[in-house]
Amino acid sequence: MARQGILHRYEKDLPLTRATPRITLMEGDTPLIHLKNLSRELKVELWAKFDGLNPTGSFKDRGMVMAVAKALEEKTTAVICASTGNTSASAAAYAASAGLACFVLLPAGKVALGKLTQALIYGAKVVAVKGNFDEALQLAREAALSKKITLVNSINPYRLWGQRSAAWEICDELQKAPDWIVLPVGNAGNISAYAAGLEYYKEIGKIDSMPRLMGVQAEGAAPLVLGRIVEKPETVATAIRIGNPVNAEKAVRAIEMSNGKFDAVTDTEILEAQRELASQDGVFAEPASCAPLAFLLKQKRAGKLSEGLRIVLILTGNGLKDPDSPLQGLPGPISAEGTLEALKGVLGL
Ligand SMILES: *Cc1c(COP(=O)(O)O)cnc(C)c1O
Repeated sequence: MARQGILHRYEKDLPLTRATPRITLMEGDTPLIHLKNLSRELKVELWAKFDGLNPTGSFKDRGMVMAVAKALEEKTTAVICASTGNTSASAAAYAASAGLACFVLLPAGKVALGKLTQALIYGAKVVAVKGNFDEALQLAREAALSKKITLVNSINPYRLWGQRSAAWEICDELQKAPDWIVLPVGNAGNISAYAAGLEYYKEIGKIDSMPRLMGVQAEGAAPLVLGRIVEKPETVATAIRIGNPVNAEKAVRAIEMSNGKFDAVTDTEILEAQRELASQDGVFAEPASCAPLAFLLKQKRAGKLSEGLRIVLILTGNGLKDPDSPLQGLPGPISAEGTLEALKGVLGL
């Protein structure tokens, strides 16, 4: 099937009206990649849903296309969001394409460079707010109370509607539900959207079992694992550096409903998983997206990963957005004189 964007592909499953413009930047329909080498190592059937291949490089486009289409339907003139980076990149792109103004509040100094560049080049008005993400979000909510501005954070219900499409694509492609779906959790909108999407697919008979949803947080930003707000969240995985998830209740329900669980991994484990994913199976995802693999590697080491499970990792964002964090743990290029002799020497030929 040719790529068509999710408002077309899932028109019947989304709350669209005749008046909802069917906008698209050709989001969705991202590859489900079989990770051959890691499957062998972990003795499971491991797949990666590479949502980093969306138009702005993260799954946020699935929800943003819906939120911006609805903002247009409701005749607002601007959108606003607080963002750890990817929401703003996505909001800015869809707003540009739809002819809406876009205001972005970023926690000062804590956003990956690629994402900041995106928001700016798409033409958003970007404000670096002193404080963390949770504080920036509170400000955005207050600013959006003015009628003509639509808040496009995941409190916006249409965001989560659009994000259901990822779960649908996985089930459509595998022709059944996997055993586990493992995803990183920040504000907890995405895991809630997966739960809702899967429940709907079960209801309409597209799948007959519910996958276990495993929500993975970073140890320094793990409010859902700890069961309490984290005042000063810290992690290299900036996309999930959130201490007070807006969708916490929905996420807890998602875990209970699917018999899943929350767990946390360290920054070291996240960066190690990122290198494993890239060097073993050729897929480069941003740090937050690698928390799920870090969780599996940890389960395996503890002897707690059953053989043969069919598992889908949700790679929420593209590695190229944030090259700085992984680079620090990698050996630099080898220097050599520009002669064949020297080259042979360093390459050991
Ligand atoms: C937004 C984001 C997350 C977290 O998703 P939530 O819905 O906030 O839980 C994870 N990874 C990446 C790359 C993101 O952009």
